Amino acid sequence: MNNLRRTKIVVTLGPALDDVDMLKRVIEAGADVFRANFSHGSIEAHEKRIQLIRQLAEEAGRTIAILVDLQGPKIRVGRFKNKKVQLQEGQSFILDTQLEDDQGTEETVSLDYKNLPADVRAGDTLLLDDGRLVMQVEKTDRYRIFCTVTVGGELSNNKGINRLGGGLSAEALTDKDRIDLKEAVRLQADYLAISFPRNADDVKEARTLLKAAGGTANIIAKIERAEAVQCIEEIIKAADGIMVARGDLGVELGDAELPGVQKHIIRKCRLLNKPVITATQMLETMTYNTIPTRAEVSDVANAVLDGTDAVMLSQETAVGRYPDKAVAAMHRICLSAEKFPQIKRSKKRTELQFKYVDEAIAMATMYTANHLDIKAIIALTESGTTPLLMSRVNSSIPIYGLSRHVITQRRMALYRDVYPLAFEATHVDRRILNQSAVHELQKRGILKKGDLVIITKGDLIGIHGKTNAMKIMTVGDFTPDS
Ligand code: PGA
Ligand code: MN
Repeated sequence: MNNLRRTKIVVTLGPALDDVDMLKRVIEAGADVFRANFSHGSIEAHEKRIQLIRQLAEEAGRTIAILVDLQGPKIRVGRFKNKKVQLQEGQSFILDTQLEDDQGTEETVSLDYKNLPADVRAGDTLLLDDGRLVMQVEKTDRYRIFCTVTVGGELSNNKGINRLGGGLSAEALTDKDRIDLKEAVRLQADYLAISFPRNADDVKEARTLLKAAGGTANIIAKIERAEAVQCIEEIIKAADGIMVARGDLGVELGDAELPGVQKHIIRKCRLLNKPVITATQMLETMTYNTIPTRAEVSDVANAVLDGTDAVMLSQETAVGRYPDKAVAAMHRICLSAEKFPQIKRSKKRTELQFKYVDEAIAMATMYTANHLDIKAIIALTESGTTPLLMSRVNSSIPIYGLSRHVITQRRMALYRDVYPLAFEATHVDRRILNQSAVHELQKRGILKKGDLVIITKGDLIGIHGKTNAMKIMTVGDFTPDS
C-alpha cells in the first residue's frame, strides 16, 4: 500500500504511442487517464487508439479514463511559400485575412481567424509560436493587421498567435468542435476538455451541446486565456473539472505570472470540490532525453504539493522518444513529493456550514480518518461524488470508490487519493454489505485482520447523492448492518 501513488497521471496520445508494446509499457508505468488531442489527427486514428486502450486496460485489470480534448479557437498563421521565413527585429509585417492560405512571405502571411483585425488595437502585443516571436500592432484595417517585429526569429507554417493580456472575442466552440463533440460522445469519452473558454457561459454551452448529443462525459475547462483567470470561480462552478493549461496561459499572462496563478487555481478547485489537472511542459526535455532536468522534477513535485489531482504529459508521450520513461519519472516524482509532510489534520471547512448530507458525511469521514489510525476509506458510490468530496481534504489515507458503474469507476481515475474498484452493491445481501465491501479489499491484500476502516454508503443502495452514513469497522469482525 505504501507504493500507492496518490496523484494521477494524464498521458497524451500521439504517434509515439501507436506502438502497442510502448503503449503497454506506458499503462504498466501507471497512466491513469489518456488524452486524445483533437487538434491533431483524424477521428479514425483517435478511435483506433481509444479502442486499443480500453482493451489493454481491461486485460491489465486497470481502470483508465479517456479525455477527449477539443481543439478550440486556437488562432494560427497560414502557410509560407517556403514553409518558413526569418523575421528581423524592427521590420514591418502584415497579418492578412484575405491572403491565400499558402502564400506567406517575409512581408505577410494569412490568418485563419478572420475577426482578428477587429479584435486588436494599435499598441497591442502579439505573441507568435508560444511567445518566441513578438510583434507590436501599428494599425489595422478591415482585413489586415500592420505590425512591427520587436523580437524576430524563424516563423514557420501554422504557428499559433496569442495577444498579451488576452481578450480576443473568439467563441470557445468552433464549428469543428461542435462536430468533434458528437464524435466524443460516440466514442464514450469519460472527460471532455473545452479549449479556450472565456467564461462560465462557454462552459455551459458545451454542457448543453453535450447533453443534447446524449453524452455522459464530465467537462474539463482548460484555463488558457487571461480573461478566464478573472472569472475563475464561475468557470470552476460551471465545469466538472479544470486544466491549468500552462502553454497558452503562460503566453497570455506572461510566464512569470504562471506559478502563482497555478497555486491559486488549484486551491480554488479544491475548495469548490472540483478536480484539477496541471498541464504542459512538465517533463519537456524528456521528449528527447531519458531523464528530466532538476527544474522539471521540481515542477512536478511542486504541483503535487500544491494539491493537484493530476499531472499531465503532452509531447513527452505524444511524439517523444521515451514515453514510458516519462511516465515512470512522473510516478517516482509524485511518490516522493507525496511523502513530504502534509497537514494531516486538515482544518478545512471546520468553520463552514455544509449544504448537503453527503458533504457532511464526507467531511466527518475525513476528520475522523485523520484523527484515528484508519487504514482505508471505502465509499460505496453511484456517481463518485462522495469520494471526490473526501479527496478535497488533505490526508494520506486512501479512498476506495466502490461502484457498479463503469462510467463512475473511470471518472474516479482522475481524483487524487481515490482508487476505483468495481463492486455490485445491489446484488449483495444488505446484512453483509459491509463485510463484502471489506472483503473486496482484503482479497486484494489491501486490508488485513485488525485494520480499522471507514465505510460510507446510503440507505438506498443504487441511488445518486444519497450517502448518509459512515461506519467505523475493524476488519475481521462480523458487523451485521442495521
Ligand atoms: P494544448 O493545451 O496542449 O491543447 O495547447 C494545453 C496548454 O495550452 O497548455
Ligand atoms: Mn492550449
